[in-house]
Amino acid sequence: MRSGLVLLAVAALVAGCAERTGTGSRHPQSGTRAGQPLKAPPAPAADLADVQADKTRIRAAEFRAEQARTAAARRWGLKRVPLTAPPAPAQKPRITTRRGFEVDGHEEDGLPPVFTTIPTDRKIVFLTIDDGAEKDPAFLRMTTELNLPYTAFLSDYLIRNDYGYFARMRDRGVALNNHTLHHPYLPALSYARQKREICGMQDVIERRYGTRPRLFRPPYGNYDEDTLRAAKSCGVRYAPIWNEEVFADHWEYRETDQRIHPGDIVLSHFRGRSDGKGTMPDMVRRFLDKVTAEGYAVARLEDYL
Ligand SMILES: [Zn+2]
Repeated sequence: MRSGLVLLAVAALVAGCAERTGTGSRHPQSGTRAGQPLKAPPAPAADLADVQADKTRIRAAEFRAEQARTAAARRWGLKRVPLTAPPAPAQKPRITTRRGFEVDGHEEDGLPPVFTTIPTDRKIVFLTIDDGAEKDPAFLRMTTELNLPYTAFLSDYLIRNDYGYFARMRDRGVALNNHTLHHPYLPALSYARQKREICGMQDVIERRYGTRPRLFRPPYGNYDEDTLRAAKSCGVRYAPIWNEEVFADHWEYRETDQRIHPGDIVLSHFRGRSDGKGTMPDMVRRFLDKVTAEGYAVARLEDYL
């Protein structure tokens, strides 16, 4: 008790010598300065109440978000609430072409890498949806309500009867990428014709939706050296293909273990009941139920590229 009093007295003396402002309020931020009183002034009661109110508000918002996710999962018939993906990585992984998928001069000439999986230890997968034939409003509602990230690869001949549907998708934060003008088997075409198919689609997406894609996926996953040189010439940076494909009624795997792995890119299609075994929401349900049951969250591909 006594030594405490002495310390306070010394502190007051030091404060008095160092600063003649009386309250030391010229430097309210620098609590460790020699000139400051050793004992911090008590925070006004109103500030503590504000901090408490903020914490309560944040907890309430988190609780409401979780409730909304649970309600959306129930509304769309999911078996479990999907897991939330970790935040985007501070440092993006180095993407290289999958072994056996290279063309001549691939790395030396900086051609877009072709890959089926993003290198990561995180239990995440990426959903990609191709072509654009089916334009189901329920799919837009479902993915929005579930806050499900995915990446679209579009072919002009399939989307041109309703560009507006994909504008709504873009407005919801989905990246629209390149899947050629007419979905040809590219290796059968000359360099000039491949370039028209790929660079023509870059122009369509830029004109219609305002951004030039960085991602291109060759139809059927088939490409040759000309494909990647043409793609690079009109601004493509990456050529992701896929490691699994999900349909409304089954899965197909590239790997012999017939499993999903961390960082796998999953393919699906804008395909409806007429040319599939179910609707787009049926496909999303099958996809989410499996990845959630296996402990995977769905992440945004663009966050890793
Ligand atoms: Zn396709």
